[in-house]
Amino acid sequence: MATHLPVVSSAPVERPRKRHPKWLRVPMPGGEGYTDLRKRVKELQLHTVCQSASCPNIGECWNNRALTIMILGDICTRSCRFCDVKTGRPLPVDEGEPDRVATILGELSLRHTVITSVDRDDLKDGGASVWARTLRSCHERAPWMTIEVLVPDFKGVLSDADVVLDAGPDVFAHNLETVPRLSKQVRVQAKYDRSFAVLEHAARRGALTKTGLMLGLGESLGEVREVIDQLGEKHLTILTLGQYLQPSRKHLEIDRYVHPDEFAELADYARSRGIAHVESGPLVRSSYHAEGQAELIRRLQADRGSIGFASLRPELDPPGV
Ligand code: SF4
Repeated sequence: MATHLPVVSSAPVERPRKRHPKWLRVPMPGGEGYTDLRKRVKELQLHTVCQSASCPNIGECWNNRALTIMILGDICTRSCRFCDVKTGRPLPVDEGEPDRVATILGELSLRHTVITSVDRDDLKDGGASVWARTLRSCHERAPWMTIEVLVPDFKGVLSDADVVLDAGPDVFAHNLETVPRLSKQVRVQAKYDRSFAVLEHAARRGALTKTGLMLGLGESLGEVREVIDQLGEKHLTILTLGQYLQPSRKHLEIDRYVHPDEFAELADYARSRGIAHVESGPLVRSSYHAEGQAELIRRLQADRGSIGFASLRPELDPPGV
């Protein structure tokens, strides 16, 4: 008698991707502001994390002329499993990039901006000197603008982080991305403690510090609260919490969709632990709604006696305001 074995296909089984809940559905990007900015970014041969990381907020942000420039090229030396930025061998440093970044940010007349970069573990200083040049060009071209730098961990080399800090960023940001237990799985070449040490170093040097976590990767809310406790104890200033979204089937799967009420509870918890400013919600990204934070940053710098370019000069209005 023939036995009926289950039919096993050699083709990989494609699990259907989860359908986003309604609070994560956003319209397709479009509109004049979006199109104009896309054209200008291309003309100046710049990269943005908005495009490279397939950010869902790009339509909204770019129509408000808010973008996050990504410096040091668009090829990253690391292969974090949540991130859509290309991995590989980067091109040589583009010496004209700092000036072109300052050009676009000056044209946009923003009060505040976030600049980030790919990881450049191939460079001796991890790209710190390019960071410093970019910051100085932007201070010169757009002295009214407060600037947040969302930097790599520089492999924990604090003297490289110092090169960036010496150039006067108004906020020094580095994302922990997830809780310690999941860190290795999510950020393959990074270490939670090393990242934390870089943030702590910047805080000790008097910078306003910021970090972000993605939720929905398998962490428990208790683990998130533990990270918040640690941030509060070390006097870190700003925290963002947002939903992880799987950029493609090659990336880590979403474990669950965190409800907006849970984001709100975590924000309350973080405030109760002394975090000065919290952005928490499904669509929150490090730079989401950052444009409105210039005033907050100046106030925090004044309250805490923090360092930063803006703390050294009076508030200026961007041209045309
Ligand atoms: S949230 Fe940040 S990365 Fe996303 S589109 Fe807005 S500025 Fe760009």
